[in-house]
Amino acid sequence: MARRKLVAGNWKMNGLTDDLGQVAAISIAAETLDVDVALCLPATLIEKAVRSAPGFAIGGQDVHPAANGAHTGCISAAMLLDAGAKLTIVGHSERRDAQHEMDGDVKAKAEAALHADLDVILCVGESDAVREAGNAVDTVSTQLDASLPPSIGEPHRFSVAYEPIWAIGTGKVPSMTDIGEMHSALRARLVAAYGDAGNEVRILYGGSVKASNAAEIFAVPDVDGALVGGASLTSADFVPIVQAAASAG
Ligand code: PEP
Repeated sequence: MARRKLVAGNWKMNGLTDDLGQVAAISIAAETLDVDVALCLPATLIEKAVRSAPGFAIGGQDVHPAANGAHTGCISAAMLLDAGAKLTIVGHSERRDAQHEMDGDVKAKAEAALHADLDVILCVGESDAVREAGNAVDTVSTQLDASLPPSIGEPHRFSVAYEPIWAIGTGKVPSMTDIGEMHSALRARLVAAYGDAGNEVRILYGGSVKASNAAEIFAVPDVDGALVGGASLTSADFVPIVQAAASAG
């Protein structure tokens, strides 16, 4: 099953209007490459970025499961769409940790986003302690099962990002064997949940991806792209990762 690669950047709580030049430069480079590219920006930049890079996929970093209401500081799927977003991340480990989001919350967020016609990148990943204890595959498989929405519509619009927490922003990366083992286990869970459509869902790797390790990671079976944090903030760092994905086919 050939799945077109997807490289998505997550700017987290970084980026001001002055940084929109980076979005424009990334979108121009992406146009010429045979790979899907997206940037998930702070909510304050979404509409501005959509205007400065028309046609390029801009996303949010979280979405509330409810359509509207008394949820101070939160953002709904309709609000993301209204700002021009095409996708959203759900279940990032920083939100699971700092905002105490549970698998059920992540599932509800994914459902709300898909229902509103946003593409979704759903994150899962284990802690250092879980990896050290040898329980990474079982733990992340269980986390995925409990976070998956009951249906996903068009499978190429739903992605899973495997992001070991201990690899995020640390410069540490699992061995290629460990990445391959996890992605293959997650593929089996997706097929168990969605049948053949599970083979069309993209599984991204995330955690300290950079230009120097991207080609090796993209060569691992069942790695269909990357979710990139720090190295997505500038075109100089991000575009070589996108180019590596395009070369990997
Ligand atoms: C992330 O937080 O999604 C991420 C992968 O971060 P980094 O690339 O900086 O490790």
